Amino acid sequence: GLDLAGASAWFDAFHRRFEAEAAALGDLDRRAGDGDFGNNILSALRRCRRRLDEEPPRTPGELFLGVSHGFLNTGGTSGPLFGMWFRGIGRATDAPVMTLGALAAGVADGTATVQRLGKARPGDKTMVDAMAPATDALAAAVDAGLDLPDGLARAADAARAGALATESLRARRGRAAYVGDVARGVLDPGALTVALFFSAGPPAPG
Ligand code: ADP
Ligand code: MG
Ligand code: MG
Repeated sequence: GLDLAGASAWFDAFHRRFEAEAAALGDLDRRAGDGDFGNNILSALRRCRRRLDEEPPRTPGELFLGVSHGFLNTGGTSGPLFGMWFRGIGRATDAPVMTLGALAAGVADGTATVQRLGKARPGDKTMVDAMAPATDALAAAVDAGLDLPDGLARAADAARAGALATESLRARRGRAAYVGDVARGVLDPGALTVALFFSAGPPAPG
């Protein structure tokens, strides 16, 4: 399972990895949108950090709820959607240790909410293209009795494959939908960020 220290390390690693990729992700949004994606998420992550410092979480669930608050007050389309996604994860359990089953349920719940609010289906070239396969991979990992690090590794692989598959798509949601075929050949930065999140997860011990 995932304890508070593991969840904190996960968020910190995600934050650092995003900082390293922010300019490149912003460029993708510039080619098929308005270019603010990197800065939107960077400011959300800084707000998350502040919130976690001011109201230290006691459980992994509280940590993800703090992250959710940081994202919900962000400009842009992606901030509030990520905020609702992390809210689903945070609400999955208030136990001191988050099991793979709870994480899988939280990701499923958050992804369903993102789809309800944003009306995107898989294949529409959005963050949902990484969230939906990660949800399926986590459910399969729970069924297979995997431990949390192995389940996260499966989710990371599935999210990455889903994100890479956005490259050839035309967007049906979000700003990238306005540019039609121009979006083909441009990876979706929201989907790549979901993949980044899962791949920043705590590595298997040993
Ligand atoms: P904005 O278009 O408001 O500038 P951002 O740049 O913050 O938004 O975020 C763009 C990302 O938001 C896209 O890469 C895509 O993954 C995601 N996105 C846009 N519209 C939707 C939607 N309807 N449902 C899910 N995700 C979406
Ligand atoms: Mg944008
Ligand atoms: Mg914008």
